[in-house]
Amino acid sequence: MMQDTMDTPQSDMASDAYLKQLKATFEQMPNDIVLYLFTAKGHEDAFTHANRQVIRAFRELSAKITLQEYDLDHELAKKWNITSSPTLLIAPEQYSIRWLGAPMGEEARTFLELLILVGLGKSQLSDQSLNVIKKIDSPRNVKVFVSPTCPYCPQQAVNAVKAAIELPQFVSLEIIDIQSEPELANQYAAQSVPQAFANDVLIGQGAQPEEVFVLSLQKLETRTIFIPDSDAELVETDLLIVGGGPAGLTAGIYAVRSGLRAAVVEREALGGQIATTPIVENYPGFTSVGGKTLVDIMVSHALQYVQIFQGEAVVDLQPDKPIGVLTTRRKFLTKSVLLATGATHRHLNVRGESRLSGRGVSYCSTCDGPLFRGKKVVMVGGGNSAVTEALHLFHMGVDVTLIHRRDKLRAQDFLAKQLADSNIPVLWDTAIEEIRGEERVEEILLVNNKTNQTDTFKTDGVFIAIGYSPALELAEKLGVEVNEDGYIKHDGKHRTNVPGVYSAGDVEGGYKQIVTASGQGAGAAMTIFEDLINPYWLN
Ligand code: NAP
Repeated sequence: MMQDTMDTPQSDMASDAYLKQLKATFEQMPNDIVLYLFTAKGHEDAFTHANRQVIRAFRELSAKITLQEYDLDHELAKKWNITSSPTLLIAPEQYSIRWLGAPMGEEARTFLELLILVGLGKSQLSDQSLNVIKKIDSPRNVKVFVSPTCPYCPQQAVNAVKAAIELPQFVSLEIIDIQSEPELANQYAAQSVPQAFANDVLIGQGAQPEEVFVLSLQKLETRTIFIPDSDAELVETDLLIVGGGPAGLTAGIYAVRSGLRAAVVEREALGGQIATTPIVENYPGFTSVGGKTLVDIMVSHALQYVQIFQGEAVVDLQPDKPIGVLTTRRKFLTKSVLLATGATHRHLNVRGESRLSGRGVSYCSTCDGPLFRGKKVVMVGGGNSAVTEALHLFHMGVDVTLIHRRDKLRAQDFLAKQLADSNIPVLWDTAIEEIRGEERVEEILLVNNKTNQTDTFKTDGVFIAIGYSPALELAEKLGVEVNEDGYIKHDGKHRTNVPGVYSAGDVEGGYKQIVTASGQGAGAAMTIFEDLINPYWLN
């Protein structure tokens, strides 16, 4: 049947309902939210313009949000020691939180959460985080470098916002848009986002679970693990899904629709690899869609059914009955576990790579690409990812050269043709032997795989997209077997060798496409439902 053109599209209705809900949330808040925007006199740059636009949009939601604007030479700028344009202060009478740049793109999510927390006057830190943060008894000057295109950044920026709201007497925070403040980013050699510093010490590269961030802030060093106290909240489920990529999200939808009590735990950004895929052109129903847009659609669909615990890392699993799963925040007792842990990007394993990671070496062109506009970079790899990302960098104005170890691309012909049409230079049969630079990437040492001839190549950045390795850490903890290719071994219906433990998505290997990962998630959820009704391990 044809759609009645007078109907309101479903998406408009959904966003109307969302706006209504947001307005009601702000109405119930006890506090006014006062914003101060400081700008250089007569200087209207893109960031100032964006600030005004974003703030105007939020002010339409609530009269509680007010904005006052001043020039940088105003006495308030001196009082608060503001030297950079634009600088946005948020409720400066209560907190020390400032934004250098503007809350654009992904960062609008951080800004919304920030306004809500300030309006509530509460940090909403978890009990586990509160136990740690109360040990801080001296100042922490926190800087979080972010960019509008980085889907990992809001998690880390919000962690810092919560700390600044919880401990205003000790924690001061600057959220710094790396494109608006290139000199400051340079000073900290911060060339990937997010990066968090406290008292000028790097405490976190990438997004950390909240409790890990708070512990790093307290200890003033990068921590990677947090074990919760024994009083961690207990949650009972039929199915716990570890991983919030397309496999995990689809499994959540199918499981709850079957009647199972299910939850998804994801330590980083939802969507897995798609969250940082610039453009997806082979997911049915979408001729061309931004990876992050597709993730947002999938997540809002999944949220209609399944509870998602984002920013929470699994730290331990016990294959008892029920299976115990300890995260950084709570303990799940569950009848079954689905490992949809995906894959982590491969490293080149050459000299200089790890030392210069975040200093010009990057694994995320979506996050870090904009920092290299007008600069020279190389993209390493010959698969779909490397070619898609090289095209993405090229289209955003980065001078990119592709480096591939063979003389033929692994990427699909369609992408190879786009690469050739755009005249992106390719160094064939070439490998990187070393990445060099003092504070940041300056040059690479190359070797020709056919002639063995070596050469140096000046570059500002090295983007690496050479495939993924399955994320098996949790599978190993549970004693799950892997196959000869190193992926989780299963019986064709996603059952592993450990009763009650299943797999889906890239951790199982196979075609590694978004659509196949979703299919694996759906299949696994249906097997789990059948098994819980009629447990095969009792037969
Ligand atoms: P991939 O298909 O495994 O390709 C990895 C590339 O990196 C290969 O060209 C490989 O070279 C090269 N490589 C591997 N190890 C290397 C090393 N140590 N040094 C130098 N080069 C190295 O990985 P991917 O491109 O990330 O794709 C992963 C999966 O996602 C694939 O299934 C792909 O189809 C899918 N994907 C699809 C799309 C799309 O359809 N638009 C986009 C992105 C990803 P060799 O060729 O010599 O082996």
